[in-house]
Amino acid sequence: MEFSQLKSWVESANGSLFPIQNLPLGICSYNNKKIVCSRLGDFIIDLSLLYENNFLSIPGLELRHLQNDYLNDFISLGADNISNLRKQLIRLFSVENSTQSGMLQSYMISIDDCILHLPISVGDYTDFYSSKEHATNVGIMFRDPANALLPNWLHLPVGYHGRASSIVTSGTDIKRPAGQIVLKDGEVPVYSKCKQLDFELEMGFVIGKENKLGEPIPIQETLNHVFGLILFNDWSARDIQKWEYVPLGPFLGKNFASTVSPWIISLDALAEFKTEGPVQSPTPLEYLSPEPLRNFDIQLEVYINDTLVSKSNTKYLYWSISQQLAHHTVNGCNMRIGDLCASGTISGPEASSFGSMLELAWKGTKPIPMNDGSTRVFLQDGDVVKMIAFTENKNYRIGFGECIGKIVS
Ligand code: MN
Repeated sequence: MEFSQLKSWVESANGSLFPIQNLPLGICSYNNKKIVCSRLGDFIIDLSLLYENNFLSIPGLELRHLQNDYLNDFISLGADNISNLRKQLIRLFSVENSTQSGMLQSYMISIDDCILHLPISVGDYTDFYSSKEHATNVGIMFRDPANALLPNWLHLPVGYHGRASSIVTSGTDIKRPAGQIVLKDGEVPVYSKCKQLDFELEMGFVIGKENKLGEPIPIQETLNHVFGLILFNDWSARDIQKWEYVPLGPFLGKNFASTVSPWIISLDALAEFKTEGPVQSPTPLEYLSPEPLRNFDIQLEVYINDTLVSKSNTKYLYWSISQQLAHHTVNGCNMRIGDLCASGTISGPEASSFGSMLELAWKGTKPIPMNDGSTRVFLQDGDVVKMIAFTENKNYRIGFGECIGKIVS
């Protein structure tokens, strides 16, 4: 049967955000052990039990890859092997294999009985700045409306090296940071709790194959180095950031926390959802030459408590994942398995598609209405920010799970 028409004998999978076409990878625990898992509908699939019972077989695979705190060792088995394992899962759980459903059900756990964890041990983390709308909005607010983009922006994917140690999984509370803040322009800074706490709606990608130090990844090969995509919230303390960022870029305004979704979605699952990106002018240098379908059409939503505050899409990104990775390594920088790169805030052309509160409330001048009658210009203690990402065609949907954080004092 054609891939897009496939159904699973796990009935809750069909029509859900986790159908048999998705099969994301993550780390979960139940009965006090951490394992590599996938998801179908309302169930976690324990890949370590499938392996122990001889349902999975790829070269080099051992139990230690699947009974592990992180996916990194498993990822090191290589993209071809992992694609092969994905095909084995599709075969096992498709309706055509319902005769084995009784046996396979014993390797599935209700999602409600599991705890999902940070899926990768992140070695290095880089944050780009790849949305033209976002960079333009920030340039208008903080610099010069007539020259909102700095001269380099249209020539290269701007980025900075972030902090890996404070990347947390969805559901982790976010403690409001403190630091140096200038309360009024021209005055000396004070030590204070952040008063302008914000989110940034981003899509990350996880490195699945290393390049050697000194050996750039050609743009045509970049996607072979990407294990999958992950939803990303780059929490930002705007007041700390504003005072500290000149001349070396973001530091303490960013590195107190970033939240990722629990699932990594493979490029295999997203292959049907590639789309064109915005026209690039001037034409980028050859090492950044874009593919015709360089972006993914993935819908993004942000909620503060129960209020939908932004609807965006990864297709708006000016610089693609391939261009980001080609640029990151053009100087010979070596990427390692488990490294994480995030897109930068993904804002679209409409005000309703802006990916941060800074833009949605336009530097505090346009308070965002909440369903309970209150308004926000930045996040308050107790606020819960939820991001979701999904893509769909006429046959199925692919979801990323939720990326949630509650602000605590
Ligand atoms: Mn960011």
